[in-house]
Amino acid sequence: MHSVNHAKNIVEVKDVSFSYGSVSVLENIRFDVHEGDYLGVVGPNGAGKTTLLKIMLGLLEPKSGSVSLFGTPLAEFTDWHKIGYVPQKATSFDSGFPASVYDVVMMGRYSRRGLGCRITAGDRALVEKVLTQVGMWEYKNRLIGSLSGGQQQRVFIARALATEPEIIFLDEPTTGIDQKMHDEFYDLLRALNRENGLTLVLISHDIEKVTEEAMHIACIDRTLVCHTSPEEFLKESASKNLGGEKVKIITPHRHNH
Ligand code: ADP
Repeated sequence: MHSVNHAKNIVEVKDVSFSYGSVSVLENIRFDVHEGDYLGVVGPNGAGKTTLLKIMLGLLEPKSGSVSLFGTPLAEFTDWHKIGYVPQKATSFDSGFPASVYDVVMMGRYSRRGLGCRITAGDRALVEKVLTQVGMWEYKNRLIGSLSGGQQQRVFIARALATEPEIIFLDEPTTGIDQKMHDEFYDLLRALNRENGLTLVLISHDIEKVTEEAMHIACIDRTLVCHTSPEEFLKESASKNLGGEKVKIITPHRHNH
């Protein structure tokens, strides 16, 4: 039976503020993600969600405040194999990109064990296991660029899983994916969380789906508007018009960074 271990913080975000130049984008964001949690990060376009994710991953440095991963401040954190990241628009390979599905997932093993390492039977078995888990083993010899967006996104999850992470961060992973694939994708995330105990942090504009799937919701709009259960979030956003409706009608934007 899966449960969240509230005694163990996988991510601690402490009073994080950030600005691009003089433009303040995040102010005093503070929350924790516990082991086994499934956190949905929601908020309007331009609210700072991707920026916050990049700060949690150490890709951007906060102006003030700090982040710890697995109890270690980011500056001292070295266990990057524990962290999986599926970025926005991971699905932009063109059809000629010369790597098979199998190769792409094996790259996850290299990042786990270091380039130049010898591939072992254990690596091969793990690649088979994670590709089977995401339902893509039969596509192993296909070129990554020849797959649909939803199939590619599954392969990227498999690559993240191949590093044997304890937490996966996903940034709007279902953008551009059709409805059926979309539902299957959420089913996969649910299984990884509820059955395998993997901790998930998912940015999504799909309030309806994310409040059905996640265990907690963090609503960001420059500040942390709320960090609560999906039920409370829906209640609060209905009574205060906090962002639920606002978010729902906005389609994901694109910017070049
Ligand atoms: P969200 O993910 O919630 O849509 P972002 O974190 O992408 O929000 O962006 C927050 C704000 O920061 C937006 O106003 C966006 O235009 C701005 N922004 C994002 N990236 C950059 C950048 N590299 N340089 C300057 N401004 C940026």
